[in-house]
Amino acid sequence: MKVYIDGKFYGERDAKISVFDHGLLYGDGIFEGIRAYNGRVFRLKEHIDRLFFSAKAILLTIPISRSAITEAVLESCRKNRLRDGYIRLVVTRGVGTLGLNPSRCKRPSVIVIADKIQLYPPELYERGMEIVTVPTVRNLHSALNPAIKSLNYLNNILAKIEANGAGCEEAVMLNAEGFVSECTGDNIFIVKEGRLMTPPLSAGALYGITRQVVIELAGQSGVAVTEPNLTRYDLFNAKECFLTGTGAEIVPVVKIDGRVIGTGKPGQLTKKLVTAYHALTKVSGEPI
Ligand code: PMP
Repeated sequence: MKVYIDGKFYGERDAKISVFDHGLLYGDGIFEGIRAYNGRVFRLKEHIDRLFFSAKAILLTIPISRSAITEAVLESCRKNRLRDGYIRLVVTRGVGTLGLNPSRCKRPSVIVIADKIQLYPPELYERGMEIVTVPTVRNLHSALNPAIKSLNYLNNILAKIEANGAGCEEAVMLNAEGFVSECTGDNIFIVKEGRLMTPPLSAGALYGITRQVVIELAGQSGVAVTEPNLTRYDLFNAKECFLTGTGAEIVPVVKIDGRVIGTGKPGQLTKKLVTAYHALTKVSGEPI
């Protein structure tokens, strides 16, 4: 595997960054998880846009242009002969001193890792997933806004550990007001009376790119989408529920906190959206 670091490609063993990089010392940095399907990078522009928005929010100046980052992602795929896979794009604050001050970091580092994708097992998509609400509350947007895709993922990791402890793969995270925000690595949707609902981004969620694609696909099939504040009660009484994310794609959810959702099987609208999503990823994206 060849890994891109600051303009050069390195073999897997030589792809290293300094222990003084504030990305490591403080989680000071940002990232994107991107997918390639069938020789094309899906929604690449949207991922690069989000990376620049995250950078702006943490006052980090990405040292190379949008087109140079785009090229680094595409070249990483080419160098690794990757037609289908997962691309991790990371920008760290860079090498500094043992102190928080980011102004000591002279140059952010840009890293691209293009790898194979590890999906959840296929049975999970066929049968649906069970998820639980966890005690760890989603970061307040007035503290560390979940819209920033930062290298500081401990909030999500703690929730993931709690979900795993309860025998589940994913966690529903509530915000400080008790409304549903999102899962540890996915956005959440429910279906009620033929309409889709997903928490508003202000409830403390990432501006998910898959979330946006699902909203567009629903619109194309005439399915209304609203973004109200949702409580656990709303989840329990939904007809269908599913999660969205670049890595996970669309995952049906059939049980939440021990309550069976709908029929206890992946729902019709969920299945329709999965088919539409796969059809879209096959043909759309930036050619490698
Ligand atoms: N929420 C969180 C916390 C995430 O990390 C992710 C990405 N894995 C998502 C939602 C889904 O976002 P996207 O569809 O852009 O991958």
